[in-house]
Amino acid sequence: MVDAKKVKENIQRMTNKVTSSASGKVQPHKHCRVCFRPIKLSAEPRVCSDQACIDRNARDQKNERQMRIWMFVFLGIFAFSFVGPVVLRSL
Ligand SMILES: [Zn+2]
Repeated sequence: MVDAKKVKENIQRMTNKVTSSASGKVQPHKHCRVCFRPIKLSAEPRVCSDQACIDRNARDQKNERQMRIWMFVFLGIFAFSFVGPVVLRSL
């Protein structure tokens, strides 16, 4: 029979070990969001010094902003398709 308490203890010990060794060895750092190379924690925007990564990041951010606008537009249309009929009926 499997002792559930013992198993739980083992798992806890294992996860403790993993997290403590990870935080003990690895220095706090960030990764370039384009090529995932380790970069300085203070690096802002989150890219390395590679010009290709800087360009890529700028382009991605522009796309992201555009995507967000479209998302809001669609969300607005979506919401209106629910709320609109109710509002129109109550007029
Ligand atoms: Zn990079």
